[in-house]
Amino acid sequence: VRRFVGLDFGGTAVKAGAVDAEGSVQDERSMPTELERGAADVLDRAARLARELGVEGALGVGIAGLVQRATGTLIESPNLSELNGVRLSAELGRRLGLRAEHVYLENDANVAALGEQWLGAGRGHDDVLVVTLGTGVGGGLILGGELFIGGSGFAGEIGHVVVDPSGIRCGCGSIGCLETLASATAAARRARERGLPADRPGDVEHLCDRARETGGPERELLLEIGRDLGRGLAYAVVLVDLSCFVFAGGFARALDLLEPGIRAGIEERTFGARKIVLQRAELGTSAGWLGAARLALERRAAR
Ligand SMILES: [Zn+2]
Repeated sequence: VRRFVGLDFGGTAVKAGAVDAEGSVQDERSMPTELERGAADVLDRAARLARELGVEGALGVGIAGLVQRATGTLIESPNLSELNGVRLSAELGRRLGLRAEHVYLENDANVAALGEQWLGAGRGHDDVLVVTLGTGVGGGLILGGELFIGGSGFAGEIGHVVVDPSGIRCGCGSIGCLETLASATAAARRARERGLPADRPGDVEHLCDRARETGGPERELLLEIGRDLGRGLAYAVVLVDLSCFVFAGGFARALDLLEPGIRAGIEERTFGARKIVLQRAELGTSAGWLGAARLALERRAAR
């Protein structure tokens, strides 16, 4: 069976595995990143892991940070700064006897999105937007079963469509982005604005528990956040007729509470009746390496 190997570099662990073209997982492993041992050591161990997994012909690599795809270079990563500026495709390729152009480097959120579309909550749908609800709102766009990157690599960043032009300033410089309204950080802020306790990181979870148990102002708030989220997602519906959304990240656990609002927000800003599918991500921390392996499969097949 032809194997496709994916690696997913995070600050604490490198997750990896091998999968066949049909998506059956052949092997799955991980190793501690241990960046303090130096960049060369991490790359040596990651290459050994890929070899043990039976890498042949191509390798997919996801990494938390900004990447330059053409040269396979990590430009900048907050969690993996020791690897900043390293030509990962060339370095891993050299260790594995692969050409650098057959080592496909991609941002970790994008490979995780691809993994969810291929084998997780989005399977069976060719067009999927994976929305990560955490401290910010991220997005990974899959069109026609392939990761859509765009010319400068920022496609799918749904967190920065403007939902409330009279709202607050976003980290990106714009005003009233979806991210300022529907991230976990935004949920905590909006809770405090109406006198609900949400000062510590775990408080959003508590807010959701309260909403489920007692309804009341917590439930109303999550309905409103959901509606703002739906208004943002409506851009994707109108632009590419997207109908399947997968939600990842910690705040996605609130999808049951957000869903009525999301549907109302989408309906309000789109025309024509559609069946919209809203799902929670299923693959957890395996999504990244699975998507990276998928990238190796699809890019190699395209050659
Ligand atoms: Zn923004």
